[in-house]
Amino acid sequence: MSNAPPPDPEKFAAARAKAQGRLLAEIEANARETANWTGRPKFSGAVMAAMARVPRHEFVGPGNEAAAYANRPQSIGFGQTISQPYIVALMSDLLDIAPGDRVLEIGTGSGYQTAVLAQLGAEVFSMEAVDALAGPARARLARLGYDTVRVITGDGFGGWPAEDPAIPPFDAIIVTAAPQRTPHALVEQLGRGGRMVIPLGGVHETQFLTLITKDAAGTVTEQGLLPVAFVPMVRT
Ligand code: SAH
Repeated sequence: MSNAPPPDPEKFAAARAKAQGRLLAEIEANARETANWTGRPKFSGAVMAAMARVPRHEFVGPGNEAAAYANRPQSIGFGQTISQPYIVALMSDLLDIAPGDRVLEIGTGSGYQTAVLAQLGAEVFSMEAVDALAGPARARLARLGYDTVRVITGDGFGGWPAEDPAIPPFDAIIVTAAPQRTPHALVEQLGRGGRMVIPLGGVHETQFLTLITKDAAGTVTEQGLLPVAFVPMVRT
């Protein structure tokens, strides 16, 4: 048995607060640096507050907490990754979430992006292809008190299941795995006046984070913004 004293939770909390402060400053710097691509030199106060609020160390998996507040993607097992915090903030900002918005998310992964959207006041409907990720993400989000989210195992190419017809259309859709082209079902389930953020590109191509809008008349516009690297969206 080790004679080491038990870890001091206050010391951890202080170290975490410091790392998180640094992370928020880096996200702000990244936003400025990429403004020519994204058109968003500064993210909204609500998005930055949500980034400050969600405990990322709860989402990275045991043993990885020390790097939880680095502005980097990390492995979450099953060949999948939790996205870089700056990318999570950017995608959340581009969606222009208002409290009460219904948001479809494809690619729950760890549930971190789900939590940021819930923190912004959204009701989140999240689909994850890998059942072994969906279950733990659902349990984690419930344990942390995010009670406006639903996580199901399913293939995002089909959108939210038709058996649940009361749900679509969505005010916003976020996709955190990259398909080659925008899945038709997702465009269908986006409401008028809605916004979708999705990385588009084939496995050996440069992906572009893409903003898709549907105006009040139902006309769809697609705008490639920033080169990114997401795991591929797979058919299940
Ligand atoms: N947003 C996540 C990161 C997701 S990584 C987070 O914050 O942790 C991309 C996720 O998309 C992976 O978990 C992967 O299993 C999932 N995925 C890939 N193809 C999918 C599909 N067709 N439908 C639903 N989820 C899919």
